[in-house]
Amino acid sequence: MTMKTAYPSFLVVGAGFFGSTIAERLATTCNVKVSVVERRNHIGGNCYSEYDSDTGIEYHAYGTHIFHTSNTKVWEYISQFTDFNSYFHQVLTTYKDKVYQMPINLETINSFYNLNLKPFEVDDYLSSEIAKDNITNPTNFEEKAISLIGRPLYEAFIKGYTIKQWQKHPQDLPASILKRLPFRKNYNESYFHDKWQGVPEQGYTAIFEKMLENPKIHLLLNTDFFDIRDKIAEESIIIYSGPIDRFFDYKFGKLEWRTLKFEKEAINVEDYQGTSVMNYAEANIPFTRIHEPRHLHPERDYTKDKTLIIREYSEMDDGTEPYYPINDSKNQALLMKYHHETKKYPNVFFSGRLGEYKYLDMHQTIANALELFETKLRPLIENKR
Ligand SMILES: Cc1cc2nc3c(=O)[nH]c(=O)nc-3n(C[C@H](O)[C@H](O)[C@H](O)COP(=O)(O)OP(=O)(O)OC[C@H]3O[C@@H](n4cnc5c(N)ncnc54)[C@H](O)[C@@H]3O)c2cc1C
Repeated sequence: MTMKTAYPSFLVVGAGFFGSTIAERLATTCNVKVSVVERRNHIGGNCYSEYDSDTGIEYHAYGTHIFHTSNTKVWEYISQFTDFNSYFHQVLTTYKDKVYQMPINLETINSFYNLNLKPFEVDDYLSSEIAKDNITNPTNFEEKAISLIGRPLYEAFIKGYTIKQWQKHPQDLPASILKRLPFRKNYNESYFHDKWQGVPEQGYTAIFEKMLENPKIHLLLNTDFFDIRDKIAEESIIIYSGPIDRFFDYKFGKLEWRTLKFEKEAINVEDYQGTSVMNYAEANIPFTRIHEPRHLHPERDYTKDKTLIIREYSEMDDGTEPYYPINDSKNQALLMKYHHETKKYPNVFFSGRLGEYKYLDMHQTIANALELFETKLRPLIENKR
């Protein structure tokens, strides 16, 4: 008989999609114990959903989340925990009291210019608009955008929204942050191109409850990893989905983020805007979007007496809540320094959107977690068996 070696103990920091996928896989497929610490008072990370007490409408507390993927492995994995409804995402934008399709498509162009262009006529028309500014070597965001779609469309749909998003004039933003502008020469109004999309029928929080229900998973809410760090055994394997700079006590400086502020309001009409997300393109309207979460669940029988709307404001993060990383050279250089430091911690896996300092969709987050589990964590356990 061979002696069995004790498995390493596993600690997951963060109960978002990254941490919950890792915990679920370790407990369900490897039958090992795993502790999950979450500093918030709820599971689900930024995908957390809850019911508004006033209207009874479920909303996504950190911004509207639509699940979409073409990754079969991720789709099969997530489908173990939920069914999805038939919600189909489209985005509209209001400019000068008129509503247009976003991203810019043939309907946007024809409606904006009051034309009836055919798809094969769009290139010529826009080329003549672009030529008016004669920008051959764009030096900033504004010039780059004009060189892609022409000044009128830029000024209507991109300029004001960008000022609100970044609190900077597009002339003061680098051309490099604008690789391309999503743009369609047809009437396709689907926001995503993926094989599967929808909203979980029972909401996002219900997914996390199922993922974390295995008795092998020990969940500690309201627990900040840094408050318990000195109690953790040195040989523990830590899957850390918190902010990478915080792990190193910000020794090289803080990575910058943009944050969002949300303002909820119950309105006494059944339907306020006819869609789940309406952008507001003009700079003088302080919010960037209005969410109306009842539209995420057309299958539900919500109250007809009132609806819930949520105005979204974009700001630079003052340390409250990181939402979007700033992909500029200064922050990338800082990130490289922290990456270098991670090599001193072979037992810690830095992951998820905060651990990688990277915008990741939910399906990418889950795919990365499944990959880490299969390639690094499962072998650690199987090698001991
Ligand atoms: C506004 C917005 C809208 C989005 N919409 C979509 C969408 O429509 N579709 C889509 O696919 N994706 C969307 N995303 C992306 C989605 O939110 C992410 O893919 C997902 O949240 C990433 O999961 P995560 O586990 O990496 O991070 P998180 O969900 O942020 O989870 C990390 C968890 O770690 C916890 N934590 C951090 N530090 C500590 C600590 N020291 N101790 C204990 N716990 C800690 C945090 O509290 C958090 O709960 C959106 C993102 C944003 C910002």
